[in-house]
Amino acid sequence: MDINVHHMELSSVNGPGLRLTLWVQGCALNCKGCFNQATHPREASKLMPVHELAQKINALDIAGVTLSGGEPLDQAPAVEQLIHAVNGEKNWILYTGYTPKEIFQDEAKIRVVKAVDLTLAGRYRHNAQHPYQHKQIIKTSDRVDIDFFSNRRVVEFIVSSSGVTKTGLPMDV
Ligand code: SF4
Repeated sequence: MDINVHHMELSSVNGPGLRLTLWVQGCALNCKGCFNQATHPREASKLMPVHELAQKINALDIAGVTLSGGEPLDQAPAVEQLIHAVNGEKNWILYTGYTPKEIFQDEAKIRVVKAVDLTLAGRYRHNAQHPYQHKQIIKTSDRVDIDFFSNRRVVEFIVSSSGVTKTGLPMDV
């Protein structure tokens, strides 16, 4: 099985510790003011075999993986397979635009949420004072410190061969 990836970078502003942030390609939700519209088309961007990606992740000395996008739950079977193929030392954070009500109506989405440690669920609200204030947290373990999300508002610029990625939480959101 393949996973449709937009891009991925090492980052320390998308969850506690040094993490791989994986932005998947494809999102049908079209939240108003979405800051990442290049990830919306479902056409294949970079198709990666799940087990090849898992091997790369296993080789990294990181605290965990943050799944973002695009919409990770639009590729739920591939994402679930990836989580189970990575060694259990790494924790998982899922950012999804789906609400808990939408998630809990779909078995494939439920399995992903059960497989990760922490899910921040709900549509992006471009005019929210704090980008997480409306998000609902689904916690399935104590492996991720949720205080990180209430305290941190940091932006990171990552320069790599794929260009410059601005990520994190600017003060003027
Ligand atoms: S779920 Fe995320 S990527 Fe999709 S439209 Fe909303 S903010 Fe954008």
